[in-house]
Amino acid sequence: MIQRLLAVLLSTDSKQRVRIIRSLMAANVYVLCMGIMGFASQQGLMRADEAGLLSGLILLNVVVWYGLLRSGLNQRFAEPSLTLPQILAALTWIVAAYAITGVFHGATMMLLTLVLVFGIFNLHARDAKIAGAYAVVLTGIVMVYKTVTDAVGYPVALESVHFALVVSSVPTISVLTAQLSNLRTRLRTKQEELTQALDRIQVLATRDELTGLYNRRHMMSVLDEHQRRLSRSSGHDFCLAILDLDFFKQINDTHGHNVGDEVLRNFASHAAAMTRETDVLARWGGEEFMLVLVGTTAQDAERGIQRLRDSLRNVTMAKDHLALHPSFSAGLSAYQPGENLAACIERADKALYSAKQGGRNRTVIWSDVVPSKSSTMEG
Ligand code: GH3
Ligand code: MG
Ligand code: MG
Repeated sequence: MIQRLLAVLLSTDSKQRVRIIRSLMAANVYVLCMGIMGFASQQGLMRADEAGLLSGLILLNVVVWYGLLRSGLNQRFAEPSLTLPQILAALTWIVAAYAITGVFHGATMMLLTLVLVFGIFNLHARDAKIAGAYAVVLTGIVMVYKTVTDAVGYPVALESVHFALVVSSVPTISVLTAQLSNLRTRLRTKQEELTQALDRIQVLATRDELTGLYNRRHMMSVLDEHQRRLSRSSGHDFCLAILDLDFFKQINDTHGHNVGDEVLRNFASHAAAMTRETDVLARWGGEEFMLVLVGTTAQDAERGIQRLRDSLRNVTMAKDHLALHPSFSAGLSAYQPGENLAACIERADKALYSAKQGGRNRTVIWSDVVPSKSSTMEG
């Protein structure tokens, strides 16, 4: 119930909510200001009609800012918190109160600094200076005006002391606000740099530099994750294939290492494009790649690998050697629930070896489970 009321009054958008709460908190200053005027007029020290009029205007001002923020109109401004305009308005009302509170006017002066304090946490350095300068200039003008028009209520000596106080306190707050703002900017920059560095580290730690595919380390954690998921619920079965380019050393020897690199990159990007979104392809090492297929039987996986093999004939592997179409051999094994990952990888390796022995350019599925004794020993 209270939550719903707060949602209606303060909005559900957290940023807007903070802005509205901060704006309403400034109403404290207004309450103080109206309190001073109420007391002064009750004591007969200022005109009640002036106190009433200014209080009405101040209340209207609170409602207008609330309306602007709650309706979301504030979001059309470059600075949607509207902090500077709200502070400038508050300074204006306080200086107006200063001008009409007669003998009590000294009491309103401290409210000037209180208003500026509201800007400390989110005014930009430039805006803090604008607000400070506005406060000093406006009070200066009003003080001169009042000493001329109301020398009894606003004697020159008193106003000089008041002005000295304003001139010494207001710029201090402005400077502190500006320093905090610069500090915030520096912190934000540092944070952005840190985020970028973390992203970069993440890429370095998980990707293979040559092909852009995941590296072996990341593939191990993918396998770990699949193993954990399968242990939690059935239906997450997966199989893995190790793909090894045939006679790759010859490509290096004949065309050079750069062409070998180009072939690896082209093979990787083509194979990655051919795999389903749920499958993960990684560079396992040298010219070997590992493909993990989720929710697929080894037989289905074999068909997918065959499609990749067939499609390679139409792919340019090295732009200066269009006839170069290396084949690959693949070893496949299905993960058996509960077994050690290393055992499954070992089966795929054996299958690959068998595919090489059998003449290459083929896929072999290794379905014999390594005796559980040896798989547990591998830890
Ligand atoms: P097989 O059909 O039995 O797999 O023969 P192969 O020549 O492909 O296998 P072998 O293991 O004898 O050679 C693999 C070669 O891959 C040797 C190595 O120099 C090369 N190689 C490994 N990593 C890279 C690489 O990043 N770039 C290049 N250009 N070559 C690499
Ligand atoms: Mg190899
Ligand atoms: Mg090879």
